[in-house]
Amino acid sequence: MSIEQNVHELLHELPPDVQLVAAAKSMGIPQVLQAIDAGVKIIGENYIQEAEEKYKVIGNRVKWHFIGHLQSNKVKKAVAIFDMIETVDSVEIASAIAKRCAEVGKIMPVLIEVNSGAEEQKCGVLTENAAYVISAVSRFPSIKVMGLMTMGPLTGEQEEARPYFAKTREVFENIKGLNIDGIEMKYLSMGMTNTYKVAIEEGANIVRIGSKIFGPRKS
Ligand SMILES: *Cc1c(COP(=O)(O)O)cnc(C)c1O
Repeated sequence: MSIEQNVHELLHELPPDVQLVAAAKSMGIPQVLQAIDAGVKIIGENYIQEAEEKYKVIGNRVKWHFIGHLQSNKVKKAVAIFDMIETVDSVEIASAIAKRCAEVGKIMPVLIEVNSGAEEQKCGVLTENAAYVISAVSRFPSIKVMGLMTMGPLTGEQEEARPYFAKTREVFENIKGLNIDGIEMKYLSMGMTNTYKVAIEEGANIVRIGSKIFGPRKS
């Protein structure tokens, strides 16, 4: 199957309210352009340098989501490229993003990355701290919290991911119910190639899909 066919199949399959992020790490510009030509509207990138190279050529004809782990020394570049940062996992990194956004007059939509409990994952705030982190981050005027992101377990059958996604959904709904000023709990980003079906059943409205679009990555 070609990239074009894979994208068409996915866009046909996904419910209309679910946004597709094409996770393009390690893919070259030609592959990314093929995906865009087939209808992809959002590219997800994990590494700033890789994103910069692609952004230079592709620019703003698509939206760019940062889905990797953001280090504070890369914030300046991230703010310049990305339309959403899905992986805010501390008040400190939010503060650095907010500071840079204020300097350049930008408001950055962000998701808070939640560690939904999978053992192997180190990133993300613990579910019990999510409300606290969000209320702290909500005070930065140049950041807008728009929901949660989670990885879920990185290996195993897709059914094994279900409880982690369900838990993240529960946290999402709880925080929505708190009516915290200045935030909008709109997006729940969960599910990758092996788990997106279950993630959608559990309430995801952003899925981040790489290998089902581009084929397997060389690592
Ligand atoms: C690579 C990656 C994906 C996509 O993974 P696939 O299994 O190739 O679909 C999704 N989210 C994040 C954060 C990733 O790093």
